[in-house]
Amino acid sequence: MEKSFKLDIDAKGIGWLTFDYPGEKVNKFSTHVMEELNSVLDEVAANPSVRALVIQSAKKGIFIAGADVKEIYDIMSQGEEVAPLVQKLLSRGQETFNKLEQLRCPTIAVIDGACMGGGTEFSLACTYRVVTDHAKTSIALPEVNLGIIPGWGGTQRLPKLIGLQNSLPMILGGKKVDGKKAFKLKLADSIIPHEFLKDRLPDFVESCLNASGRSKILNARTNRKGIQKVQDYLLEKNPLGRSLIFSQARKGIMKKTMGKYPAPLAALDVVETTYGWHLQAGLKKELDTFVNLTTKHADICENLVNLFFVNEDLKKDPQVFVDSTPKKVDVAGVLGAGVMGGGIAWLFSYKDIPVRIKDIQWDAVSKGFEAANSIYKQLQKIRKLNTGQVNLKMHKISGATDYSGFQNADIIVEAVVENMDLKKKVFAELEEKIRPDTLICSNTSALSITEMQKDLKHPERFVGMHFFNPVNRMPLVEIIPGEKTSKETVASMVSLVKKLGKTPVVVGDCAGFLVNRVLIPSMNEGLLMLEEGLEIERVDNAITHFGMPMGPFTLADEVGNDVGYKVALILNEAYGDRMSVPPTFKKIVDAGLFGKKMGRGFYIHKGKEKTLNPEVSEILGTTRRSHLSAEEMVDRFVLVMLNEACRCLEEKIIENPAYLDMAMITGTGFPPFRGGLLRYADSRGIPTIVQRMKEFSERFGERFKPCSLLEEMASEGKSFYGPQA
Ligand code: NAD
Repeated sequence: MEKSFKLDIDAKGIGWLTFDYPGEKVNKFSTHVMEELNSVLDEVAANPSVRALVIQSAKKGIFIAGADVKEIYDIMSQGEEVAPLVQKLLSRGQETFNKLEQLRCPTIAVIDGACMGGGTEFSLACTYRVVTDHAKTSIALPEVNLGIIPGWGGTQRLPKLIGLQNSLPMILGGKKVDGKKAFKLKLADSIIPHEFLKDRLPDFVESCLNASGRSKILNARTNRKGIQKVQDYLLEKNPLGRSLIFSQARKGIMKKTMGKYPAPLAALDVVETTYGWHLQAGLKKELDTFVNLTTKHADICENLVNLFFVNEDLKKDPQVFVDSTPKKVDVAGVLGAGVMGGGIAWLFSYKDIPVRIKDIQWDAVSKGFEAANSIYKQLQKIRKLNTGQVNLKMHKISGATDYSGFQNADIIVEAVVENMDLKKKVFAELEEKIRPDTLICSNTSALSITEMQKDLKHPERFVGMHFFNPVNRMPLVEIIPGEKTSKETVASMVSLVKKLGKTPVVVGDCAGFLVNRVLIPSMNEGLLMLEEGLEIERVDNAITHFGMPMGPFTLADEVGNDVGYKVALILNEAYGDRMSVPPTFKKIVDAGLFGKKMGRGFYIHKGKEKTLNPEVSEILGTTRRSHLSAEEMVDRFVLVMLNEACRCLEEKIIENPAYLDMAMITGTGFPPFRGGLLRYADSRGIPTIVQRMKEFSERFGERFKPCSLLEEMASEGKSFYGPQA
């Protein structure tokens, strides 16, 4: 087997250890890599001429990606033997990193790229860490995102090195820090510009070899600790202060996860319980907790790990024929500077792509600038960017009320109001002003892409590119080819969306595409429950308790009831009775209750606070009472979505169930711990689901009648992720 580590010892006695996992783009710790590392460490320990060990990566942009997640997943799928196997895997990692820590010579991790999970834990066991200012340099412990906790010493060594308050967000929330931040937090002992790494690294190594150099490095650590706010430091050193820190961390986790994710709470318990303990005792507690999570909460771990793999697949899968070469996009144009146009222009500028926004009036254009600026202000507030960087990025945006400058664009994203005639008129004007090879995309929420491209001179370069609101936070972009869209155009969009840092999912052209088509029936269901006499807050609470980020009424207020109503009507026209829009929706919109942006919708919104809006009960004018259980409310909400999702599979709007699940998670916030809509259906069993739908069809209406795919799956014993339908 090809080796992953290469050790060169130079004339000065410096051991240069290079990690280069054969045949892969990233370095990771699989069992055989860990064994090889063990042997290398034994070799170094046995060689008295080695004065220092410097560990580097041969991979571009990556130091170590972490443990081999596939190995952990395979172990978890073994059934009975899980606990001893996980325990063995973890113990070996802990022993190896202990061996690294106990080497007689100083060890230096050189982090010039991403350093994740087990990679971070490896670096923590080194004596010193050097980082670079490279854009890809980042350090994180993202284990909780997979339903596990750091298990190779991360919960023990990180708090000791950088303090509780700095380490908790990394351990409990997977927070990433870049090179500069790592240096500031004293997680790194030196920061070197990426371009000068080769030249300057030997000086740092040299300083680790003499007493004055070492004390300088260690003093610098202590001094930077001094920069940490004095009150924070004192808080951590006093038991009452610590209990305050832990209780606030617990509150933060509960607020973010509603207690649905056991891993962050388990990680907190480990850090809290083992504070001040000897390393070995702490490692034992860390290991036991890890094993406990992978056995007692195996379903959640499996769901989260599966999503990790789907995400990796989506990054690699071109989702189009590989023989199409993506076009390069260096300059962009956006039509319409409203809610979406402003967000999309921000995204291009954030990724350093110059962008011109056009609207019909300067007032509107300036709103687009304001929208982009306010996102940058948030990024400045959380110190992700500094003023200089924001200024440079804002200068990438220019505005216009005509098409001047659009000849330079490689792509135009249309985000004018949702009206087919207006959009067609805009495209006709646009085609006169731009190059014939410029890509044109529509950000329409629900209108037909094929219809929009009908009158275009060059329909092959036209495609749907559906961003979600707010653009800066929502990871999904649906890419919708129309009948005449070329493969090259689709390939270009997939490549661009990845470059923009979003998740591209290619879906078929139908009203509402995938996500809105599946989501809108559940929003209608919420309104129907309201009309039957259920209270707004009870419905919203039941749905959030299930794990959705918000209930249907809170979501409707966030999106804007005017916008949601328009989309619901388009879907009703396309799909008929099963998507009838409950009459209350029109009344809400007619009364001007547009939601959060107006301060009034289903709720009254004041800042972050919301209270029920009494106008809604007046509009309903009903004293009817309905008594559904929370479980029934959730089933009504979820099962109408499931029925529509299955119709999308039947119609091949999307073919891969895992991609459908990922789209619903990234587009609507469907709870990741449940693995996605279809995986959730699998977990309950398709026959049980079909039976419940039949019951609901009689009680609440035809829309619950299971579609033929579900009936067929139930009768043939198939599941979405097991034997395929
Ligand atoms: P908006 O009303 O906030 O903005 C539309 C902008 O288009 C306005 O500033 C308007 O002046 C401008 N406009 C109108 N005619 C124009 C023209 N001829 N040339 C240039 N600009 C023109 O709308 P929005 O919410 O940003 O939605 C835009 C598109 O994005 C719609 O198709 C909508 O369905 C879709 N979309 C909206 C959301 C959402 O949540 N708001 C989400 C996804 C997609």
